[in-house]
Amino acid sequence: MKRNIGDTVIIGGGVIGLALAAELRLRGQDVTVLSRKPQEAAALAAAGMLAPEAEQLPEGPLLSLGLRSRALYPEWIGKLERLTNLSAGYWPCGILAPVFETPDVRLNQENWLEGEALRAFQPGLGPEVVGAWWRPEDGQVDNRRLMTVLHRAAERLGVNVQAGVAVTALSLRGEILEGVETDAGMFLAQNYVLASGAWASELLPLPVFPVKGEMLSLQMPPQANGAFPLERVLFGPGTYLAPRRDGRLIIGATVEVGNWSAYNTPQGVQTLLERATRLYPGLACWPLQEIWWGFRPGTLDEGPLLGPGPWENLTLATGHYRNGVLLAPVTARLLADWLTAGQSDPLLEAFSYRRFEESL
Ligand SMILES: Cc1cc2nc3c(=O)[nH]c(=O)nc-3n(C[C@H](O)[C@H](O)[C@H](O)COP(=O)(O)OP(=O)(O)OC[C@H]3O[C@@H](n4cnc5c(N)ncnc54)[C@H](O)[C@@H]3O)c2cc1C
Repeated sequence: MKRNIGDTVIIGGGVIGLALAAELRLRGQDVTVLSRKPQEAAALAAAGMLAPEAEQLPEGPLLSLGLRSRALYPEWIGKLERLTNLSAGYWPCGILAPVFETPDVRLNQENWLEGEALRAFQPGLGPEVVGAWWRPEDGQVDNRRLMTVLHRAAERLGVNVQAGVAVTALSLRGEILEGVETDAGMFLAQNYVLASGAWASELLPLPVFPVKGEMLSLQMPPQANGAFPLERVLFGPGTYLAPRRDGRLIIGATVEVGNWSAYNTPQGVQTLLERATRLYPGLACWPLQEIWWGFRPGTLDEGPLLGPGPWENLTLATGHYRNGVLLAPVTARLLADWLTAGQSDPLLEAFSYRRFEESL
């Protein structure tokens, strides 16, 4: 069976596919999202940090993209929340990045805290912490809530989301993508977007690979005044602690390149707990809530693949590695500009898949 379904088919219903679908729909396009397994999306496994500075993204296009996306967040979330009447748990709480060794160059002294000033600013840090960078403009979003919001927004806007439909092949006619073959028949549209995260190379020979991350969560005990002990993200060496407003504390994450094993391991969980308690010893006695894992879409330079693909009517939106939640609004905006008006932002050039042509 062949189905002709209008302007754009997006392969993948993770945070990138849904963010772009909503944006295209708001600009009047007919959009279909083919989403094999909504629950396997890395977007559900993430920590939701919006951390271009704490992540120390290298100076250059990736940092520019991250800063632009972080700046878009309040407006983007506001629009989605008004549309759905749901909260995405956006919290521009700032991120404190403690270290165990004093850095040689404290590039920006204003943001460096140590000694009593640090301990007063953030009680409870482990004794080995020697100082910390304060990144007041970084923050977080509750990524699970964000995905609920995006699904609801897609529904409200009239995006055709086909959950459970797997794209099995791309069907070419000359230099044009004619359609996508799926386990529910062939889907035809004018344009196609590959937004299938860590699985992108199943359909096209792209250098996108899984980087597994194991995670866990604890329940923070409320203090006498009702507040929770952590009210900002701690981004330490090899681990981070992201406190949610409802008292959950998200702890991540291992980094396991090329690992597709779909389970937690004792080693992974032990690593997380050791690193987390070194950073903030008090958490060792808090109730353990949940453990899980996910697959980041890794690339060779840790930057995404965005913009025109190998055929005229295929656009790429994948490879967001550790920062796909952060980069969702800017990806949606730049690619919607490209797909609806043919406008190519100068930043897109830096993320062309062609930069990897030698390794393809
Ligand atoms: C442990 C962990 C922690 C993270 N923490 C953060 C963080 O703090 N901040 C941040 O910004 N980012 C974080 N990330 C990264 C972020 O989650 C990803 O970059 C982002 O989710 C990528 O979005 P995506 O839509 O491309 O892929 P995904 O969210 O993985 O979605 C891809 C979807 O495509 C579907 N799909 C795949 N193949 C097909 C097919 N053939 N047909 C149809 N559908 C298909 C899959 O079923 C899946 O639902 C983290 C990731 C992990 C794993």
